Amino acid sequence: MTPPTLEELGTGECPPAKRDRPPSPKGTETPQDNVASTISKESKRPRAETDAEEREIQRQKRNAEAKAWRAEQTRRRNLRPEERLEERGVTLRAEIQNSSNMTTFLEISRSKRAQCRAKEDCFYFRNNAECGKFIWSDARICVEIPEYEEIGWGSKQYYHVQCFSCMISPEDLIPDKFTLEGSWGLMVRKWYQHKGCVDLDNIAAYIGRYKTYDKKAADWDEKYADWSLHHRRHCKDESDPATCGCPPAPNAPDKPVLQDYTTGQKKVELWEVMLHDDVWEMCDIQEGDQIVMPETEAPDQVDGKPQEDGGRK
Ligand SMILES: [Zn+2]
Ligand SMILES: [Zn+2]
Ligand SMILES: [Zn+2]
Repeated sequence: MTPPTLEELGTGECPPAKRDRPPSPKGTETPQDNVASTISKESKRPRAETDAEEREIQRQKRNAEAKAWRAEQTRRRNLRPEERLEERGVTLRAEIQNSSNMTTFLEISRSKRAQCRAKEDCFYFRNNAECGKFIWSDARICVEIPEYEEIGWGSKQYYHVQCFSCMISPEDLIPDKFTLEGSWGLMVRKWYQHKGCVDLDNIAAYIGRYKTYDKKAADWDEKYADWSLHHRRHCKDESDPATCGCPPAPNAPDKPVLQDYTTGQKKVELWEVMLHDDVWEMCDIQEGDQIVMPETEAPDQVDGKPQEDGGRK
């Protein structure tokens, strides 16, 4: 809004129409009211003096702003990188939550060319990692800003999982503003489903049991095929394997069950999950338009509202 000129406001008393108006309640005063009351008080003074004073006020205001800006720069420089990232995170988080279409997701890094947006505060860069600010990790976090596409900027900004986690806890953005893109191992999927409240040691132990089972199941497959072939050769098709005289069919191994791995309150960070040796074990598999999870979970483990699609878009 352009402030009114002195001519528009008049130089003497307020016009009667304005005076008769009931006083505006606090908080609804327009800037014009403020300007009008200030100017009507000072308007008795010579114009030149007012202009000089006004210029001085403006100059002091600019100096104060420059000083505040320099102080802010110094303050930020003196912060630890983690603190700076945390501050940026507060702003970014508000942007994401207030935007209708801005979103974030975890994805498999498709190249090593993406640079981390944490820039000079990037964890890898600060620790002189070989990759510098580039993201060489298997997975990265992408912030998607569709508006940027329209103005010809890249709509995707990438972060190391560590760097992003210094800014925003990704689990706080689940389910609407943080999703899993693509196929993920059991640890990541369970971390997502329970918003970080999982016990990695428990899941790792389950993965161990599952691997043993998987070997046994392969053995069993082979033995069963042999047994079945033998039965078909020696006996008639319709004969009952229980009474035909063949040795009993080999028993299938028991599938291990995943249970008691949620923690209720205690959280594990996504970047910790990503560093676990077993992070890529037991990925979900896309079969046609179905997603197949290799794990078997105890029914009472599935909480009130399970993420049926594992949080996928
Ligand atoms: Zn980084
Ligand atoms: Zn038989
Ligand atoms: Zn036989």
